[in-house]
Amino acid sequence: MQQLDQKSRSTPLEALTRDARALANGDTVLSAPEAEVARQLQICNACRYCEGFCAVFPAMTRRLEFGKADIHYLANLCHNCGACLHACQYAPPHEFAVNVPQAMAQVRVQTYVDYAWPPALGALYQRNGLTLSLALAAGLAIFLLLALALNGTLWGGDLRGNFYNVFPHNLLVGLFAPVFLFAVLALGLGVRRFWREVTPATTGAPVSGPAAAEATSDVLRLKYLDGGHGEGCHNADDEYTLARRRAHHLTFYGFMLCFAATSVATVYHYAFGWTAPYDLPSLPKLLGVAGGLSLLMGTAGLFKLNLQRHPLQGDASQKPMDRGFIALLFFASLTGLALWLARGSVALPSLLAVHLGVVMALFATLPYGKFAHGIFRSAALLRHAVEKRQPDRLGLGAD
Ligand code: SF4
Ligand code: SF4
Repeated sequence: MQQLDQKSRSTPLEALTRDARALANGDTVLSAPEAEVARQLQICNACRYCEGFCAVFPAMTRRLEFGKADIHYLANLCHNCGACLHACQYAPPHEFAVNVPQAMAQVRVQTYVDYAWPPALGALYQRNGLTLSLALAAGLAIFLLLALALNGTLWGGDLRGNFYNVFPHNLLVGLFAPVFLFAVLALGLGVRRFWREVTPATTGAPVSGPAAAEATSDVLRLKYLDGGHGEGCHNADDEYTLARRRAHHLTFYGFMLCFAATSVATVYHYAFGWTAPYDLPSLPKLLGVAGGLSLLMGTAGLFKLNLQRHPLQGDASQKPMDRGFIALLFFASLTGLALWLARGSVALPSLLAVHLGVVMALFATLPYGKFAHGIFRSAALLRHAVEKRQPDRLGLGAD
């Protein structure tokens, strides 16, 4: 951050900052984090040095004022790549104190709370470390006690390497299906509320095929973690790194492969009557092992990068949420792989109970933790792909 200090200098933009501090936008009262984003974006809108870094700045230049919906949209468009912090001559300790990634992160978590469904459960985002810990403790307790009750022991028994000899298939479906469907419903209704608020603020135009294709590509490639130039984003310091993008990719695709493994296994079971356990080289096992390894490497990388993150980049108070989610994913993949390797051993009931407890905690907290960032950010990228195809009524942007 020493380089940021060297870049500090005063300019006529100071006057703009003072004006922006008194921001009031129509009849919509902004929260303190939202007002701070609006203040900083007024400065950025005059400066525009970071215009090529990401989607946030071109979207910003389409606006002269920033209402609640604009701020929610822009906050979820930001990927916390840090490029605009490390490039900014007005970053702390400059009196303008421009720190866009931090201000955006504070609003982002507020949007998760505001749009959560059911609304009362939005509070779970605020003490997320505790939420995840309690969910994990409950998940482990439930499955360890169930294994003991059904198998008579956590160590051994007549199992012949078959998980369903510990927990019958229908019992697992009865426990996991409602939790998973609730998570999908809660996330879907939450992001629908977000979409409805930001759509009018982003021209209101409907989603076209090209816009959907571009947004899908941006999400799948994590385009905005490339820093706008392909060299990567920032993490610990001013150096560019592609490590965050790669760790995200390993995590995301690992998660999707594990999900595909479960989906294929479900089709095998119900459509073809081919019951588990499946072993190599069956498709569910190939997908599961590849996904588990990818998830393990990705989450280990993300955790390390999170520990090294520059203290000014992002919102430090959200670290329990970030690290808790990464840890749950890591242990889900670790215990899943351990379970496969130890499937013929006396440790099978214990390992299976621990794995299922971790997975249950993960599923139960999906709508009220860091997982939400992928859903909300994808929706914001889709609105951006729509908005950029509409005429810019101000005509002040670069594109
Ligand atoms: S973050 Fe700083 S350098 Fe970038 S546009 Fe805003 S004020 Fe300018
Ligand atoms: S942190 Fe990165 S993604 Fe967020 S506004 Fe700055 S440059 Fe854009």
